[in-house]
Amino acid sequence: MSTNERVVLASRPTGPATSEHFRLESEPLPELEPGQVRVAVEYLSIDAAIRTMLRGEGFHTQIAPGEVIRAGGVGRVVETADDSLAVGDAVRGQMGAQTMLTTKAKRMEKLENPVTPLSAYLGALGGSTGVTAWIGVREVGKPQPGEIFVVSAAAGAVGSVAGQIAKIDGATVIGIAGGPEKCAHLIANLGFDHAIDYKNEDVNARLKAIAPDGISVFYDNVGGPILDDVLDNLALRARVVICGAISQYDDMDNVTGPSLYLRLAERQSRMEGFAYFHYLDSIPTAMGELAGWLGDGSLLMPEEILEGIESFPEAVQFMFQGGNTGKLMVKI
Ligand code: NAP
Repeated sequence: MSTNERVVLASRPTGPATSEHFRLESEPLPELEPGQVRVAVEYLSIDAAIRTMLRGEGFHTQIAPGEVIRAGGVGRVVETADDSLAVGDAVRGQMGAQTMLTTKAKRMEKLENPVTPLSAYLGALGGSTGVTAWIGVREVGKPQPGEIFVVSAAAGAVGSVAGQIAKIDGATVIGIAGGPEKCAHLIANLGFDHAIDYKNEDVNARLKAIAPDGISVFYDNVGGPILDDVLDNLALRARVVICGAISQYDDMDNVTGPSLYLRLAERQSRMEGFAYFHYLDSIPTAMGELAGWLGDGSLLMPEEILEGIESFPEAVQFMFQGGNTGKLMVKI
């Protein structure tokens, strides 16, 4: 392949990011400089954070119009000008939304004896997926056997894994997800104890019915009204884990805060946010446990895969419309 096909930011969205905000471009491949490698990208991770990088200001690295969209990925080295990586090596890292990455070898993480398909390194073993779920459960929420654990965006990538880890740790798990199919999947395939369809059910009333003594850990991926519904149902000494708030990312200038935060004081509870990359020391342990569970079948990570670099803009929209079950990726 002599060209790189890449997706760049065409214009900054003010609401939902749609195809018009992205542009597909083709560029010739540059000559490799010493220390560089060329990687043929195999899978790109679609993450909710991509939307927060299109604003021009905020917590995550920002993307300017004309720049390639940031996206983590996995691939294989096809050309090398550095002794640390050979042709055929599997690598993971910040690939960008493109088919061929030319970069310094030291920016890539070499995957030793990789499991295949390489998509597992973005899903169950991915930093922004399995590892994020592990850290939020094990380091922040810390559910104890018999406690009630609730997770939102439960059928998505992080939520699926977080709920399964809480089950492994002996909690009773309630997943909140959009639609009857996702709710059925949580119980039938992931082993959750209860599921609440926030699009068709009264979340607050269902929580009161399922957990009359309250919720001990809430792993929140969504924010907005769902966060208030759970705050209204906290048990004494509950832990509310703020992993993300996807319901707010399309309009970050007008984030809707929880109106029931005083429940934290009334129930002697705490709310704590985290970002997985602040827990670097925990990542090897997390990866080891996740790989073990994946290997022995105690962790399931469904994958939702769209084909081709041209589907990247559609994939971002798909996530914000709740299209995905499990880890959403683009296969190149
Ligand atoms: P995901 O859960 O695979 O996909 C997002 C899901 O969110 C969608 O499938 C959709 O499912 C739900 N959703 C979308 N818009 C919604 C809305 N307005 N209200 C309620 N639900 C909505 O995505 P992910 O990559 O695993 O990320 C999940 C969360 O983790 C995000 O908030 C992300 O920012 C956060 N995150 C945090 C860290 C960290 O280090 N703290 C790292 C990675 C990700 P439904 O069909 O159920 O609506």
